[in-house]
Amino acid sequence: MNLNPVLKTNAQERGVVCDLLDFIDRSPTPFHAVEELGRRLSARGFRALREEEPWDLKSGGKYFVTRNDSSLVAFIPGDKPRESTGFKIIGAHTDSPNLRLKPNPVYPKSGYVQLGVEVYGGVLRTTWTDRDLSLAGRVILRDGKGTTTRLVRFADPLLRIPQLAIHLNREVNQKGLILNPQTHLPPILSLVEGDLQCESYLKEMVARQLDCRPEDLLGLELSLYDVQKSSLAGPNSEFLFAPRLDNLASCHAATQGLLEARERAPETRVLAFYDNEEVGSETAQGGASPFLKDVLERLVSPAAPSREAFMRALARSLFLSADMAHAVHPNYSEVHDDRHMPLLNRGPVIKSHAGQKYATDGVSSARFELLCERAGVPVQKFVMRSDLACGSTIGPITAANLGIRTVDVGNPMLSMHSIREMAGSRDHVSLVRVFREFFNFSEEGEG
Ligand code: ZN
Repeated sequence: MNLNPVLKTNAQERGVVCDLLDFIDRSPTPFHAVEELGRRLSARGFRALREEEPWDLKSGGKYFVTRNDSSLVAFIPGDKPRESTGFKIIGAHTDSPNLRLKPNPVYPKSGYVQLGVEVYGGVLRTTWTDRDLSLAGRVILRDGKGTTTRLVRFADPLLRIPQLAIHLNREVNQKGLILNPQTHLPPILSLVEGDLQCESYLKEMVARQLDCRPEDLLGLELSLYDVQKSSLAGPNSEFLFAPRLDNLASCHAATQGLLEARERAPETRVLAFYDNEEVGSETAQGGASPFLKDVLERLVSPAAPSREAFMRALARSLFLSADMAHAVHPNYSEVHDDRHMPLLNRGPVIKSHAGQKYATDGVSSARFELLCERAGVPVQKFVMRSDLACGSTIGPITAANLGIRTVDVGNPMLSMHSIREMAGSRDHVSLVRVFREFFNFSEEGEG
């Protein structure tokens, strides 16, 4: 694999790109992503904490905590008090747009067994048609008098949302494919044979998969995913074709950056990965929740656990909000501003917006540019065309919540929110380098 006309890469860095694809394939849902991140962090000496228990944290110790099995905060308490060094945080999101099963999903129609679905986030609907789909998610099981949760994943293709033949939809190439989410998106699961037991059909499938009793299944939180594996692509392996690059690629780069950084540092280093960004972040585990603030407050030096020490720590902190950016599309280059056209494999992008849909300010932007310079990585800038509306990220939400200086950054990509997205492989190597530099570099000159 040659990732490198521009950026010199080594075998280890090329391995990191393959590891990203493996991580994405293991993470069909946010629950699976958080479980996989926990597994990887545990293998590198991070200890799992629980929010409901007291924490006894040591400087240089490695810890992580999850909320709702779908958001995760990992951290390494620094060697110096928080109020004199602050927090270095990289944030990203674990969720991606997809189709989710309704509470009573199974129904018969025209001889088929179908599943009712809801649209989660800004799905590019047409991309979910004619794909080999399957189901994954979290189930809630009876456990004595209470409940417990388990993850489930069907590996085989079970479902399909077939497109209508062109002979039955003659104007589709002139008018475009418009899909009504209620009537056109329900996938076909099977054919009706005999007496269809709608209530128990799916529970029996899941019970067989998990080797449990169907009557113990109290809840199913399942979504659809594409079973096709991610690819390293292009004649020089310059591209990644994969689902959920937005935003599992940023979660992976941030985690890798922390794992590659030096063991000890004066500053407290933090990863914050949130669920529910694609639906506005206003949940108990989303970017608008107090999850990160709660963890940071517990991280303030126990020797001086004052409110003032916490505020001083926040004032010294920097938050890198990592989410994917819009690369210029050669067939639609007119939707970009002429002087802000990020290209694949030309380095991470700093995103800014006068209306503050991105949290970047002049100082945070300059600090990120300096990090790229130190890491030997090129950097690009993005702003929306002035006559188009701008999307947003967890950046402004967490910045407003915590009052921490924030910069919105991320790697350029195409097909954002498609079932199968596209990005540059060298950009991933670059972003890992910048994040490692962020966690390594000490402003006190100890780096
Ligand atoms: Zn995103």
